[in-house]
Amino acid sequence: MLEIKKPLIQKNGNKTRLCFDLILNENQCENIWYEVDSEYEPFLCDDRIDGIVVNILLYCMEHELDIVSECPISERLYYQLTNYLIPSISNNIKKYHFIKIKAPLCSTPFSSAKAVGTGLSGGIDSFYSIAKHISCDTPSFKLTHLTFFNAGASGNYGGDVARQLYSDRIAYVENFAKEQNLKLVTVDTNINEFLHQLHSHTHTFRALAIPLILQKLFSVYYYSSGCSFSGFRFYYEPAYYDLLNLPCLSLDNITFYSCGGETTGRLEKVKAVSEYEPSYKYLNVCVSESSNCGHCEKCIRTLLELYVLGKLELYSDVFDTEDFYKNLKKHYAFMLSRRENAAYKELIAEFKKRKMKIPLSSYISAFFIRADRKIKDNKLVRRIFKKPPLNT
Ligand SMILES: [Zn+2]
Repeated sequence: MLEIKKPLIQKNGNKTRLCFDLILNENQCENIWYEVDSEYEPFLCDDRIDGIVVNILLYCMEHELDIVSECPISERLYYQLTNYLIPSISNNIKKYHFIKIKAPLCSTPFSSAKAVGTGLSGGIDSFYSIAKHISCDTPSFKLTHLTFFNAGASGNYGGDVARQLYSDRIAYVENFAKEQNLKLVTVDTNINEFLHQLHSHTHTFRALAIPLILQKLFSVYYYSSGCSFSGFRFYYEPAYYDLLNLPCLSLDNITFYSCGGETTGRLEKVKAVSEYEPSYKYLNVCVSESSNCGHCEKCIRTLLELYVLGKLELYSDVFDTEDFYKNLKKHYAFMLSRRENAAYKELIAEFKKRKMKIPLSSYISAFFIRADRKIKDNKLVRRIFKKPPLNT
């Protein structure tokens, strides 16, 4: 059992924290906080536990911990979690167990919730959501706020390095928000240190818990989808079943949309982003450095996507295009070596469709990359060298 104590508001200079004590047993109490700039203090929900429940849901399901609290949970969230989401996940994903939630119910609406938000990570998925909603013809769905959270994307398990990376990127997000005339909400939290779960296995719940903590602010929130709706399935990576997650987390005050799920795949999104001019200056997909390194998996894939669509030259301010052309054969080989992955499959098909020739030497190199990967991932070899399984 895990008990959530009534949250408290703590002010510290121009920052305000919403703090929850989580009691796991008589010897273990974890203090979890979410910190916002004080201008957003009036929007913090200290009268209900919706956000923290969503944030710890998969943790509690993994460790088979029922959730109890004297502080209320929104009636609709309780209904949707206990009747649809928890049974579906526990019935279909092995490591998760069915759990119960015991807390008083509430259903007070917030008249202040009017903002329309989405997260800015700098990648293709988030720019697609921004491009689609920055000037849409439905006023209630037009983007008003950008968000940037230290919710696991800067480091699975939080800590000082992740917090530093998060802080370093705030200036980049601030500049973009200012140029686009959008408000920016940044939220730091120590939940990552407690959860100690892989971000890729929990990201939807970690990212959407925060707009739920701020549901006095947001009425609509776009969550940038990593998967098409056609790929729905239960899997460790929640993006595959966001089609179920997002309606189950949407409440009377706030509606979540899985933006990008309606597309046929990555290339449709890359094409839409390449028609959005601010992305030429701000696209930042890199997973290893603060600006695009051009050589990590995400950089190579995005470079090849822009190249195949004939849009690469538009991004010469954020990518070293000369270096890309110098290494093109190597990048082709990398792409071919990952041909089972849906995004690379789509990319290879596009090269073929556009009759853009891939040299034979890249096919030969891809063969050796795959053989090397197979040897390294061989269970016996890994046991001999005592290495953990590769995360490919
Ligand atoms: Zn990179």
